Amino acid sequence: MGMGMITPTGTATTTITRMTMNIKPEPVRDDLALALAMLERAEIIDFNGHFSARLPNSRGLLINAADSVRSRIRADDFIEIDFEGRPLAGARTAPMEFHLHAQIYLRRPDVHAIVHTHPRWSTVLTTAGHGWQPVTMQAAVLGSVPTFEQTASINSAALGQALAQCLGERKAALMRRHGAVTVAASVRDAFVQAVYLEENAHRQYLALQIGTPQPLSEDECATIGRNLSRPALLQKVWDYHAARYLRNDGMSTEAAR
Ligand SMILES: [Zn+2]
Repeated sequence: MGMGMITPTGTATTTITRMTMNIKPEPVRDDLALALAMLERAEIIDFNGHFSARLPNSRGLLINAADSVRSRIRADDFIEIDFEGRPLAGARTAPMEFHLHAQIYLRRPDVHAIVHTHPRWSTVLTTAGHGWQPVTMQAAVLGSVPTFEQTASINSAALGQALAQCLGERKAALMRRHGAVTVAASVRDAFVQAVYLEENAHRQYLALQIGTPQPLSEDECATIGRNLSRPALLQKVWDYHAARYLRNDGMSTEAAR
């Protein structure tokens, strides 16, 4: 039996295997694998994209390896590295854009999970010169989203710092002609924000085809954002995507074999 089969709760194969082999459970690693698999299924990531979590005591981060196949992601595709990208265990290499993650973790002690995506609709907006506007209620959860103007792979500490500075204390940023980043205190919340970010961009794009998008005001964003940030509502989004993933082929193909 393979290790690290992706399950929403960690109660199935993964846990059983670990118990049998007396391996310490790693729920964060399972959550990261499931989150990335769900983003791929939702077409928010493609053959690129990475999800990370801060390691205990801030000794580095857990991130999917550069060579991990995004459509067949496994719990053991995640590797531990320090903030300079050096492996803390194993021999696989980190994605070249690990600096994006590292520099945000160094700047933001409140952030424990980061996802970097190359989503279609968010990127179409910035390519056409539009900024992201909150045009759906769910977008209020994100608040304001700046655009990082420099089009580049974030493959140096300096670029990572520049991006982290652009993000500031916010939950998300777009990267012109390139992609997006969302940050949160948990893997679940970073996942949900990535979904909301892209869904809103798609609707903003559609609204642009037939008229002028009518974004929420700052006050509306604050009120609605508070209301829709309740943990039970965010969990609902996670559960929806997890069930969808597992229903289709997550279980039968044994993603972790
Ligand atoms: Zn990228």
